[in-house]
Order: sequence, then C-alpha cells, then structure tokens
Amino acid sequence: MARLYVKIKEKDNVAVAVQDIKAGTRITEDLTANQDIPQAHKIALCDISAGKEIIRYGVVLGYAIHEIRKGDWINEHMLELPESPSLDHLEYGTNLVEMENLPMPKRTTWMGYRNQTGPAGTRNLLGIVTTVQCAAGVLQVAVEQMKKELLPKYPNVDDIVAVTHPYGCGVAIHAPLAEIPIRAITNIIRHPNFGGEIMVVGLGCEKLTYSYVLPQEDITKENVLTLQDYAGHDAMMQAIFEMAEKKLQKLNKRHREELPLSELLIGMQCGGSDAFSGISANPSAGYAADLLVRGGATVMFSEVTEVRDGVQMLAARCVDAHTRDRLVEEMKWYDKYLAEGGVGRDANPTPGNKAGGLSNIVEKAMGSIAKSGSSPIVEVLSPAEKPTKHGLIYAATPASDIVCGPSQVASGIGLQVFMTGRGTPYGLAISPVIKVCSRKEMKAHWFDLIDISAGAVVTGEATIQDVGEEIFDMILDVASGLKKPYSDQYGFHNDMCIFNPAPIT
Ligand code: CA
Repeated sequence: MARLYVKIKEKDNVAVAVQDIKAGTRITEDLTANQDIPQAHKIALCDISAGKEIIRYGVVLGYAIHEIRKGDWINEHMLELPESPSLDHLEYGTNLVEMENLPMPKRTTWMGYRNQTGPAGTRNLLGIVTTVQCAAGVLQVAVEQMKKELLPKYPNVDDIVAVTHPYGCGVAIHAPLAEIPIRAITNIIRHPNFGGEIMVVGLGCEKLTYSYVLPQEDITKENVLTLQDYAGHDAMMQAIFEMAEKKLQKLNKRHREELPLSELLIGMQCGGSDAFSGISANPSAGYAADLLVRGGATVMFSEVTEVRDGVQMLAARCVDAHTRDRLVEEMKWYDKYLAEGGVGRDANPTPGNKAGGLSNIVEKAMGSIAKSGSSPIVEVLSPAEKPTKHGLIYAATPASDIVCGPSQVASGIGLQVFMTGRGTPYGLAISPVIKVCSRKEMKAHWFDLIDISAGAVVTGEATIQDVGEEIFDMILDVASGLKKPYSDQYGFHNDMCIFNPAPIT
C-alpha cells in the first residue's frame, strides 16, 4: 500500500497527507485521523500544547494558538507566525558544499546560439522592444502580420516577439527606483535569445527616450523607429516591416553549435505552490540545479518574500562576506518596501497556497528554497541585473510569477523551470518555460499543460534524483531546441510585467 503521509525531518511533529484522509482512518499503528485531512495538509504526530512549536522541515513553522491533539488536522488558522529571522549578524560560508560533492551530470554540452558575450541563446528570436506602452498596439499588430508574411521566409529564425511592457511614460523617470524598470528594458533589448540584433520602437514623446536604454552608438536608423515620424498607418507598418526584414536576414544566418554548459543560464521559479512543492517538485528541481552547477552552468533563483524566512540558510551558503552583505541588502530593501506599503511578509501566501496545505510563509519558504539545490551562492543581484559569475546566483525579484519571470528574463535566462502544485498555464515568449508539478493528480488533470510530474516522489515510487535527472535532461533538450514545452506549443505567453517600484505620475 502506498504511504499515507510524508514526514521530512526526524524532529518534525507534523507530517503531510499524501491523499485525502477520512476522519477515523488509522494512519499507523498509533496514529488515527481525528478529522478529515485534505491532501497535502498537515496532521499532528503528537499532542502540541498551546504556544508550543509546530515543526516541519526541522524548522519552526509557527506556534500553536490552541492545544492540538495527536491526529488533528493543522490548518493556517492554528499557527501563530514566528518573528522574521533577523538580518543582522548572519553567518556566511558555514554551509559550503564542495563542487566535487555535487552530483555529476551525464551530459556536459548542449546546442545553443553562441553570442559575442554572455550566455548563449536557447532560441533564435527577433525581439522588438517598445520604449513605451503607447506603441504596443501598433507593434503587436505588426508582429502578428510579420509572423505570417515574413517569418516563413527565414526558417532559421524561431519567432518574432513583440516585447510590450507597461513602463515608459507617465512615470517619475528620475526617481531613484526608476533604475529597476530602466535596467530591465535595457537588458531585455540585449537578451541572449535576440542574438545581438537591436530593434526598438518608440512613440516619440515618451519619457523613456532611447538614450536611457541604448548607448549612443546604437541609436541609429537601423535600430530605432519612432512612430510619430511616419505619416499614418501604412507608412508606420511599412517601416516596421522593412526594419524587421533586415534583422531577420541577419538572424537567419545563425546556427546552433555544441557548447559547454558554462554558456547556459537557467532560471528557477515556483508558483501556485502546495505543501508537496517542498517535498517533490522543488527538491527535484534543486537536484537538477546541482547537476547544472556541477557541469559549469549558471542557475538563478529569486522571489524575495519566499526566501526571507530562510535567509540564515542562504547566508550560510554565501561564498564570502560581500555576497552575504548583498543578500542582506536586498532583503532589507524588500522589508522596507513591504512596510511602506503597509503590509508584512504574511501578504504571501495566496488562498490557493493555503488550500494546498501551506499554512504560512515560513512553510512556503522552506519549500521555495529547496529549488536552489545545495551549491554555494556565488553572487547576489538586484532585480534585472545580469550575472557576472558562473554557479548559483540569487537574483532578488518579487515572488509574483508574472513579475519574477520578466526580471529573470532581463537577467538573461535562456530558459526557466517553473514548479507548481496548484497548476498555472504560465509561459514566457522570450525564454521557454518547463513546468514541473508536485503531485500526480495535477499531471492527470492537466496532462497536456504540465511537462514533468514529480508526484512519484510523494508516493515513494521515484526518488528526487530520478526526477531531478529527468528535469535536467528536459532542460538540455529544450535549451537545445530538441523539445518544446507545452506553453510554447500553444503559445501561452504572459505579458512582460516588469517590476516598477518607482512612482507613476
Ligand atoms: Ca513565484
């Protein structure tokens, strides 16, 4: 018989139900469910008095508000959230796993589009970036037509992408925090999947002029196009077509070549998590991250509010004091950002997370961090910055799926691995997204939307290593253009909701 619950660490006093458990079910010799326990929710393994610790992952998730009896269902209303870990005096470098102790990947090369600098491309795309949302409608219509009329003539080009974002005008462009959205747009223009071909479309009167996002030598009539310069619809469409066709001719000469993993930059994210995410999908992705890092690749993980409660675990993995200090700086910035907005870290998790058994942000954080694997953190980035090192990178971004994605894209990821418990059709037009679910029921329900199921880890039929290797293989296959994840097969792509913490005027 398959197991009924999963306990993670010896000292845990709660476990997670593998399936719905009916009240009165005898779970083990001396443990009986006192109430119905929904799948992925917690059950008390012993009596817990009011005020005492509730422990999962060997970590205090919170304190019992009332007395809890052995066999009780524990939901989010029964825990008091502990204080956030202090950001002062965090120790660094106390948990550095040596490279030779990371698992060795079977494959150490992939097929990508080499770039002059930085990571290689996983796709060969014409990316057309707007400086302002006002140009979005025109560009989207032009791109839909060009996909039909121009793209078939250039078989080596995978797609044409209209990068339309909400920034650009009506914004306090000189506000200190405006550097975040400006950096995001600047870096997206140079995304590795765009092969160095620059095409920027502006309106003409916006605040975000070309000089904010391009060096002077790149602001040429070959690279930038201003809609207000053209007389009416037909003229502006023709101008976009002509510029795009010249770029397509150049991109069509690009070919994939065998490259070392050091030219691969992968992002990790999770969304719609449940209490299984930290047991199956995220640790499996973490194992894939370890394989990638061991093979020389760079792996990025993010989502500040979801790692904040495990910051001491991340500091212990920072390679030096500077990296730890940068981590603390990013966490403090976010604490302040939330406080100024009048909320705390308990604004996360979501109702769906809670329905999935995640009681609070501490529990979510432990699962979220698992996707980073075990390797040392070599660099910490502000939102939308590009890595300068190889290995595991912490790139600070909001946890919001639709904002974390574009931030990591701006940092240059060639592909994102996305773990989910509840399910999301999320995808990105610039970087393919592989979706990994935490439980078998999700894969059965969304059989043609979820790429990989880590559910067999929950039931004990597969190991984290098994699924980790499956994820690693799919990463290399998708990066090499051999496979398309479901979101790309259907063209399910989210908008580029870049992070703008600065004022809108
Ligand atoms: Ca997320």
